[in-house]
Amino acid sequence: MRIDVLTLFPAMFDGVFTSSILGKAREKGLVELNTVNFRDYANNKHNTVDDYPYGGGGGMVLKPEPLFAAVEDVTSGLESKPRVILMCPQGESFSQKKAEELSAERHLIFICGHYEGYDERIREHLVTDELSIGDYVLTGGELPAMVVIDSVVRLLPGVLGNETSAVTDSFSTGLLEYPHYTRPANFRGWEVPEVLISGHHGNIEEWRRKQSLERTWRKRRDLLVGIELTPKERRWLDEWEAQERSGGEAPGKPE
Ligand code: SAM
Repeated sequence: MRIDVLTLFPAMFDGVFTSSILGKAREKGLVELNTVNFRDYANNKHNTVDDYPYGGGGGMVLKPEPLFAAVEDVTSGLESKPRVILMCPQGESFSQKKAEELSAERHLIFICGHYEGYDERIREHLVTDELSIGDYVLTGGELPAMVVIDSVVRLLPGVLGNETSAVTDSFSTGLLEYPHYTRPANFRGWEVPEVLISGHHGNIEEWRRKQSLERTWRKRRDLLVGIELTPKERRWLDEWEAQERSGGEAPGKPE
């Protein structure tokens, strides 16, 4: 996969693109990560990329020319047009499902905004997607682009050491992930659940599925809509619901 990030602050990506799993993925040649300073495409002698909004009001607006020129340069000579993703608080909410969809692409271009906003013609005629990382406003699109790129790149084959580790992640299964434990088996008197050291794979699988369901039921019931349940799993949910209605102890401990 190739990813180009159009930004006014390429240095912000230095650490993220060279460290940890993204850095290794890049070293292994599994992903090509480039930053492009779109100020280099400004068509005026002061290299300005923003201007006052027509109609007045506060804040500066990113001009269309530099961004169109940068995207056209990055894509020139390519046979297929890549997805051009505008980071934007008004965009579609980013999700694991979207990360999976984007991880199937061969080339992505991210546009990181700054200031008040973009000239609307960028939104209308240059981009294929608008993505938001949540209902809050940041100063620029760099951090949101890093969030999206990190979650996409870790899904590429060979990037994570253990191929199965992304498969059981929260949201990949539709549920929140089950709890993990490691050595020591007893830490300050807090024991690891016995089933996990039993060596009985069937029981471990069932415990994990039950924990996953229970966590999702307690923390994110909205995720359970549309999840297929076996009759046994349905009974677990009925029991938790009955406990809750009777004011009994909620399953599990609050975290
Ligand atoms: N005035 C804009 C509005 O109300 O929609 C907000 C502009 S914000 C200060 C500057 C830039 O930061 C945006 O153009 C976008 O690139 C980025 N940004 C801020 N919050 C974001 C979010 N939640 N998700 C994605 N990008 C965001």
